[in-house]
Amino acid sequence: MEHLWAPWRLAYVTGASGSRTDDCIFCNTSEPGRGDLILIRGRVSYVILNLFPYNNGHLMVVPNRHVAGLAATTREEQAELMQLTRHAEIALTEAYAPQGINIGINLGRPAGAGVLDHLHVHLVPRWNGDTNFMTVVGNVRVLPEDMQSTAAKLKPIFERLHRDDVLNAEHAEHAE
Ligand SMILES: [Zn+2]
Repeated sequence: MEHLWAPWRLAYVTGASGSRTDDCIFCNTSEPGRGDLILIRGRVSYVILNLFPYNNGHLMVVPNRHVAGLAATTREEQAELMQLTRHAEIALTEAYAPQGINIGINLGRPAGAGVLDHLHVHLVPRWNGDTNFMTVVGNVRVLPEDMQSTAAKLKPIFERLHRDDVLNAEHAEHAE
């Protein structure tokens, strides 16, 4: 809570993480319950709600491949990660009208990464004073909104943005 510059440090503190892909939570999104958290799937990456959010709307943009950092990503992955990060900014702004958004990547444990070895971009909507308006019980923040409501709010926006991008790409092709 005190690390305001990296609010996602709380993410997945209880989740196991390893270098093997079979116990990597980002490689195994088809496990029961986890698929509900996925907001949109691109060609090579996807957007998923953080199971242990810092704020309502805390989500992550994740490449499908188990890559540790940006260094190992392909051009296609780089482009789509940024495209989906842009969509996430638009979706969060539309759904929650936050006063700010943290966007960041933590590489390695000292940097605050909860899941090591599988790159992910955090987006955390922020409000003035949001460090004290929510109740903290033990180490668990009590959020005013449940995950299903968050997903229901954000999914249609991501789907619309995705459709718009596809249409724009087709227009661009026809224009050539
Ligand atoms: Zn992985």
